[in-house]
Amino acid sequence: MLSFDVCDCGAPLQRMERETPTPKGAEVVLKVLAAGVCHSDLHIWDGYYDIGGGQRLMLLERGIKLPLTMGHENVGEVIAVGPEAKGVSVGDVRLIHPWMGCGECAVCRRGEENLCLKPCSVGIHRGGGFATHVLVPHPRYLFDIGGIAPERAAPLACSGVTAYGALKKVRETLKDEPVVLVGAGGVGLMALALHSKMGGKSAIVVDLDPAKREAAKRAGAAQVIDGGAKDALDQIRAATGGGSWATIDFVGAGATVKLGVDAAIKGGKVIVVGLFGGDVVIPTPFFPIKAMTVQGSYVGSLPEMAELLDLVRATGAPDVPVATRPLDQVNAALNDLRDGRIIGRVVMTPG
Ligand SMILES: [Zn+2]
Ligand SMILES: [Zn+2]
Repeated sequence: MLSFDVCDCGAPLQRMERETPTPKGAEVVLKVLAAGVCHSDLHIWDGYYDIGGGQRLMLLERGIKLPLTMGHENVGEVIAVGPEAKGVSVGDVRLIHPWMGCGECAVCRRGEENLCLKPCSVGIHRGGGFATHVLVPHPRYLFDIGGIAPERAAPLACSGVTAYGALKKVRETLKDEPVVLVGAGGVGLMALALHSKMGGKSAIVVDLDPAKREAAKRAGAAQVIDGGAKDALDQIRAATGGGSWATIDFVGAGATVKLGVDAAIKGGKVIVVGLFGGDVVIPTPFFPIKAMTVQGSYVGSLPEMAELLDLVRATGAPDVPVATRPLDQVNAALNDLRDGRIIGRVVMTPG
């Protein structure tokens, strides 16, 4: 098998060759048909998250080992199954749920492997899809994509389930109040598309980039707001009728979280998803006075992935722009994403 691996943080991925794995036990080997490039790949590639005040959270000190094959948004075709792998056959096309845990602790047994303290996620802690093949430890991580094209389904594995998991956290107001989506990158546009499939009333999209605001408008945003405008907060308050019940921040910079908190109405929720980095000071009386919730949301659970795939098989793939590129252009794709030249998602294909 071939893979493109991070060998040094931030340096171009290296083309590597190794033997294609043979599945043991309940393992499954898939040939990669589509592998989405996600913003978090840039953080993994760099090897750190910015946690504000000049501080960095170093990923190599948090269980990530090099060389690493990144790529956590994968659809593949099953080419070999271990003797104990039930419910999956050679030739099946499956989406790989990448957010794996130890599989044994109470959190994992609840299905919330994405929150396990011993994460073992595809493309982060174990080999991912910037490769010709991926080994999956158990068929429970594999999901039928119905008739959806692999390159359209692949982004559901991260961007899709991340948007879905965040939208579920504001489900109680989704049908009656507009949701404010901060950041119209791949995940933000995915949330915009999913929110209407989930019966959402309307979405207001905030982004600094006019091209991304335009993309959000075309994708059905009721209103778009320049987050850098001096009166951005006033515009959000006006658009939401006095303040936001539900803001989902797909950027996660200090300034965007502050904007979300300031824009929250009494009882409002701010869900932080993005990993841009930074920090924020929130006056503590705001929490009780505004009866405000500030909650993080990290990717999604196995049950959420199942619900998302049910929704998508019933209503079609979310209408998010997808561009495909052959796998050997993965370095160029990562650089384009870093430079903000990607609208929607770029997905690597075998080429
Ligand atoms: Zn991702
Ligand atoms: Zn666990």
